[in-house]
Amino acid sequence: MHIGIIGAGYVGLVTGACFAEFGIFVTCVDKDEKKVKALKKGKVPFYEPGLDELVQRNIKQRRLKFTTNIADAVNDSLVIFIAVGTPPRGDGSAELKHIDEVANEIAKHMDGYKVIVTKSTVPVGTGKRIKRMISSRLKAKGSLSALSFDVVSNPEFLREGAAIEDFMRPNRVVVGADSQQAVAIMKDLYKPLYLIETPFVITSVESAELIKYASNAFLATKVSFINEIANLCDEVGADVNIVAKGMGLDQRIGSKFLHAGPGFGGSCFPKDTRALLRLAEKHSIELSVIRAAVSANERQRHIMFEKITRVMGELKGKTLAILGLSFKPNTDDLRDAPSVFLIERLRRAKARVRTYDPVAMENARSLFPDIVFCKDPYDAAKDSDALVIVTEWNQFRNLDLEKIKGMLRQPFFFDLRNIYDPEKVKKMGFKYFCVGRT
Ligand code: NAD
Repeated sequence: MHIGIIGAGYVGLVTGACFAEFGIFVTCVDKDEKKVKALKKGKVPFYEPGLDELVQRNIKQRRLKFTTNIADAVNDSLVIFIAVGTPPRGDGSAELKHIDEVANEIAKHMDGYKVIVTKSTVPVGTGKRIKRMISSRLKAKGSLSALSFDVVSNPEFLREGAAIEDFMRPNRVVVGADSQQAVAIMKDLYKPLYLIETPFVITSVESAELIKYASNAFLATKVSFINEIANLCDEVGADVNIVAKGMGLDQRIGSKFLHAGPGFGGSCFPKDTRALLRLAEKHSIELSVIRAAVSANERQRHIMFEKITRVMGELKGKTLAILGLSFKPNTDDLRDAPSVFLIERLRRAKARVRTYDPVAMENARSLFPDIVFCKDPYDAAKDSDALVIVTEWNQFRNLDLEKIKGMLRQPFFFDLRNIYDPEKVKKMGFKYFCVGRT
């Protein structure tokens, strides 16, 4: 089978490379010429463990190719995935202009039956909108009766940093379609996963679209929930790690996404929760739980900054060593990262920032040209007044704390990811602060 993927970002590229690995012929299209030029040489423009090798191997084996010309992908393919960005608009709703652009282009180049699949996260109703747009385009060029097509929703649940594993071994594959033919083609495409008994949820386009938003909103709510419990723990002398463990062992609750910290970030949770709120508003439905999860998350960022100022006092002229910039480990993605909020607040307070991140520093340079990028965590700690762990990269879990202490001007240590043992660290002479374990 031959498929086309429009949009070669995180989702499109991972999807394309993984399907190619399954033996499918894949044409990836992106309008960004620089990106396509690099990809043709096997250069992945962002950090994702294992993706370079996968892309390079499949280019070599001629199953994966890149182009800026959408016609190439449409002509050759039975299935066309749309994986372009759906960033937030000013009011929080999802921007669909890239989706519309692509739908129009597909209609322009269609030459036979196609299954058009949205992998992008799109509001409920977008599948129908794409169908309407393509139909009216085909009608205008007089080929509606000759060309048939189906629109399918196949939302993506991969996590940045573990994207290949998530694609190859997903918890489930969701396919929303109104046609048996389209479902059969999707099942055939995903055959390797079907064979390893991955659960498939076959449903309507609308339900599939909503499954994605509801899943992200639920996970975001779990994060905000444990963060609020952590703030209470700080006041009543409980330990949020133990509370979360005690809760998470209940199988009805589960242990995932119960890690207290500086709040959720990234390209999905903040954007998708807001877009879902806007969608509900449009339908006069109040999603008060999700609304609360979003505002608790915004508050959590402020609480982290206040934690620092409460113990350090005036920050003007002080230097803070920030460890970790990406919104989570194993990615260089800074979109909506807690570190970005914290650094902005520190700069407004006229504090100086020294920072280290294993892979995200290149992306951060353009955002923060006036902070100091260091060669390792020890270099960041040098002559700083405090160490702040913002992202829990594995390499920060076992730092030589004696060495760090020797480098800091003052022994303030803010562990916003709860990765160190408070007793041990305090015994070493640090003034140690974490989240919900005071
Ligand atoms: P991205 O910004 O990394 O990639 C989008 C790509 O689409 C860009 O390379 C852009 O140049 C390209 N593009 C835009 N308009 C185009 C057009 N008309 N023709 C060709 N290419 C075009 O975005 P992403 O993170 O891959 O997200 C894509 C979608 O998947 C979003 O809806 C997002 O919410 C969803 N999603 C993302 C993740 C994630 O972890 N990043 C996970 C699940 C779902």
